[in-house]
Formats: sequence, C-alpha cells, structure tokens
Amino acid sequence: MVEIKTDRALDAMREAGRVVGEALATVRASAAVGVTLRELDAVAREVLRAAGADSPFLGYRPGFAGTPFPAVICTSVNDAVVHGIPTDYRLRDGDLVSVDCGARLGGWTGDAAVSFIVGTPRPADLRMIETAERALAAGIAAAVVGARIGDIAHAIGTVARGAGYGLMEGFGGHGIGRAMHEDPHVPNDGCPGRGMRLRHGMALAIEPMLQAGGRDQYRTAPDGWTLCTADGSRAAHVEHTVAITDAGPRILTIR
Ligand code: MG
Ligand code: MG
Repeated sequence: MVEIKTDRALDAMREAGRVVGEALATVRASAAVGVTLRELDAVAREVLRAAGADSPFLGYRPGFAGTPFPAVICTSVNDAVVHGIPTDYRLRDGDLVSVDCGARLGGWTGDAAVSFIVGTPRPADLRMIETAERALAAGIAAAVVGARIGDIAHAIGTVARGAGYGLMEGFGGHGIGRAMHEDPHVPNDGCPGRGMRLRHGMALAIEPMLQAGGRDQYRTAPDGWTLCTADGSRAAHVEHTVAITDAGPRILTIR
C-alpha cells in the first residue's frame, strides 16, 4: 500500500532529510586517504546524535540478511555497489566510495546516498559518478504528478544504459515515509507509461546504481551484506528522497 503524505508530513520528512544531507556532507568531508570506514560511520553517528535523530540502518535485518546491519551508513568501495559494512579498511588513493545514509526524526525517514573519489580520481570513475548523478536528476525530473513509476525508471535507465553502464539486477528505489522501505518499488530501468500513477503526497527514494562493466549481475560478499559487481568493475550509487507535489518534485535530502 502506498501512503499519501500530508503537506505537514512532507515538511517533517524534509527535517529528517536535512539530517541525512548533513551526515553525508560531513562524511564526505572526512573521507581521506588513511581514514577507516568505521571512522566515517562514527562521523555520521555523531551528526545523527546531535540532531536527535536515530538510524533506520542500524540493526536493520531484512529477509536476505543473516545478521542485523551494524552501522548507520553503508560504505561501498570500488567494486562494492551497495550495502557495504563499514570496517577497519583504510581508504586508499583513488578509491571510489559510495556512502548511503538514513535518518529517522519525529517518526519520519530520509534516505540518500553519494559517490565520490578519495584522493586522485580516475577519469573513468568521474564519468561514471557524473552519469549516475545525471540519471538521478533525470529520474527526479520525471517524478511529477500524473506521470507513472515507469517514467522514472525509463528516465534513469536511458541515461545509464545510454552511457554504457550496467544497473543492479532487480534493485532500485522505493517508497519511503514512516518506514525506510515502503511501496512502491521504483526500478532503475523500464517502460515509460507503465506502473503506478504518481500523486501529490507520495514520497520516493530514487537511487540509480551503475556498474562500469556494463553488466547487471552482482554477487554477495562473504559478510552477507555487501553486494559487489559480478565482473569486479567499479560501481557508483547516488540517491535522494523526493516528494511528488503539485509544484513539482521536491528533494527532501538536500543539505
Ligand atoms: Mg539509501
Ligand atoms: Mg534507499
């Protein structure tokens, strides 16, 4: 079931989203060669704590996971696409890092992700991140009243596939509100004009996940959480929580 939010609820989601934006910006500013992923998680925890928010990631245990998620951010490095657990791994020059963060404040949830390079960038990585951001922008631009879920999916897929990237088989965005994952599923590729019609008051997390190798297959790492590209190529993941409104798409997780 899709919950239609009141304007007041969307304003409350914006406050949760602001905390997410702040946490991601702070994590990004703290990421440098030699810093561990666990240290980045501590940075995000402090932002959430200071804002009075809690984490929808910490302790999260969906059906596929054998263990509860142990952190407030996912840190997915290089060939890891999503769901990377922050470990004692120290960032190296040229690493491509995707950070995903959620926050719950006043009973409402925000969810967003950024990808960036630590130290010296490879041109191919910059191109993939820029394409992921462009795919996200296209998906958001398609998230208008009267359009359908398939229009968002098609917009994302067109940008990503058009630039030669693979997408994560079966993965995409989702409805969001009181819970982090609500209906509907928002695929990253699909047919325009198909699927649920978008209405004022819907809130969606839109999140392209690109694979440099051009394939869609992935494998699960031995930790049971981290999803990596099957071909070992690098990946990028970006995300915003967006409200569908009569005035157009409203990004709730901008800093
Ligand atoms: Mg996320
Ligand atoms: Mg999400």
